[in-house]
Amino acid sequence: RQPDRRHSGVRRSVVDGRTMSRPQQITVLGATGSIGLSTLDVIARHPERYQAFALSGFTRLSELLALCVRHTPRFAVVPQAAAARSLQDDLRAAGLSTRVLVGEEGLCQVAADPEVDAVMAAIVGAAGLRPTLAAVEAGKKILLANKEALVMSGALFMQAVRKSGSVLLPIDSEHNAIFQCMPADFARGLSSVGVRRILLTASGGPFRQTPMAELAHVSPDQACAHPNWSMGRKISVDSASMMNKGLELIEACWLFDAKPSQVEVVIHPQSVIHSLVDYIDGSVLAQLGNPDMRTPISNALAWPERIDSGVPPLDLFAIARLDFQAPDEERFPCLRLARQAAEAGNSAPAMLNAANEVAVAAFLDGRVRYLEIASIIEEVLNLEPVVALNDLDAVFTADAKARLLAEQWLSRHGR
Ligand code: NAD
Ligand code: MG
Repeated sequence: RQPDRRHSGVRRSVVDGRTMSRPQQITVLGATGSIGLSTLDVIARHPERYQAFALSGFTRLSELLALCVRHTPRFAVVPQAAAARSLQDDLRAAGLSTRVLVGEEGLCQVAADPEVDAVMAAIVGAAGLRPTLAAVEAGKKILLANKEALVMSGALFMQAVRKSGSVLLPIDSEHNAIFQCMPADFARGLSSVGVRRILLTASGGPFRQTPMAELAHVSPDQACAHPNWSMGRKISVDSASMMNKGLELIEACWLFDAKPSQVEVVIHPQSVIHSLVDYIDGSVLAQLGNPDMRTPISNALAWPERIDSGVPPLDLFAIARLDFQAPDEERFPCLRLARQAAEAGNSAPAMLNAANEVAVAAFLDGRVRYLEIASIIEEVLNLEPVVALNDLDAVFTADAKARLLAEQWLSRHGR
C-alpha cells in the first residue's frame, strides 16, 4: 500500500492494484481559536479532500465538543485529565468514537500520528512550540499560524524542517502573501532569485491615529477592536502595539532566509495588500484579497492547487483607494524592540516573545497599562544577556528567564 503524496488534495492509495481515494487527514492544534475555526470552515467546504483527524482545545471545551460532533475527528485533545474524562463521557453520549487525549503529550501524539497528512499549528504562543516541532520531526506538511513557535526557536525549527523534509507553509496572511509572490526556488537565497527586499504590510491597528496622550489609558477591549481583522485576544493586542509586526519580521527572516534589513514594514490601513516582494528589476509583486484568514488557510491547505475558500471576491471599486505610510517607532516602541531582537538573534527573539506574552496577559487581566507592555519587554531585554540557543532546552531556559524577569517587574510595581 503506497500513498501517493504528489496530489495535494485527495490522497490516493494503491490497494491490490486499485487506486483508492481518501481525504487528507488534518490535525488542527488550537481548533477552538479564531484560526482553528476558520480552518474547520474550509475543511467542511471540501469533505472529499479533507477530514479533521484531531482537534485540540484549551478552555472552551463545550465548543470543542460541538466541533467534534460536527467534524467527527478520531482524536480530541484537552489540557487536563478531569476535562478529558468529562469530554469523553459527552462524546460517548453523543454516539461518537472520538478518543480524548491529554496535555502536551496528547498534542504531540496527534501532530505526529502516521495517519496525519497536514498539521494546522494554531495554538497561540510558546505553548505551541513542542507540538509543532513534533509535527515537523514527523515530516508532516505544516500549516504555520503559531508564529511564536518560529520566533522562539527559529534556527532549530528551520533545521528540523530541512532534516525531516517537512513542507512548511505560512498561514500568517503577510507571509502567505510573500510566499505567493516568491519564485518557486526562493530557498536558493533571496539575492540568487533577484529579490531586493520584502515589504511587510501592517494595518497600524486600532491606535494608529489615537492621540499619544490617550494611549496611556486605553483598555483591553479597545486594543482588541481591530479595524480590519477578527482574531484571538493575544494577537489583537500584539496588532495594537505592532509587536505582531515585529514578530512577523522575525518570522519572515526565518521563512525566507532574509536579513532583518531586507524586511521593511509598510503601514497600509486598508489591509487589502497582504505584503509585497520587491525585485532587482524594479518589479514589485503583491498579493491582494479581503482580510479573511480563510484565503491563506485555503492556499496552504491546497498548495500548489487552488480551492474555494468561501471568501467573497475583492471589490476594488468599494475599496477605491490604498494608502501607505512609514511606521512611527515612537508610537510603536514594540516594533523597535522586535527589530533589535531580530538583529541580535540567538536568544533575543525568544526573550522578546516570552516577555511580551507575560506583559500582554497582564494587560488583558487589567494588571498593567498598555504603554507598560513595551516598558516590561525593554527591561527584560536589557537585563538578560543574549546567549546562543543550541538546543530546545536552551530555548525554554531563555523563555523561562524572560518570564521570570517580566513577573519580577509586575511584583516590583505591585501588580
Ligand atoms: P485564539 O486565542 O483565538 O486561539 C488560540 C487557540 O490555542 C485556542 O484553540 C486555544 O484553546 C489554544 N490554546 C491557548 N493556550 C493554549 C495552551 N497553553 N495549550 C494548548 N492550547 C492552547 O488565537 P488565534 O487568533 O486563533 O491565533 C492562533 C495563532 O495564530 C497565534 O499564534 C496567532 O499569532 C496566529 N495568527 C492568528 C491570526 C488570526 O487572524 N487570528 C492571523 C495570523 C496568525
Ligand atoms: Mg499577520
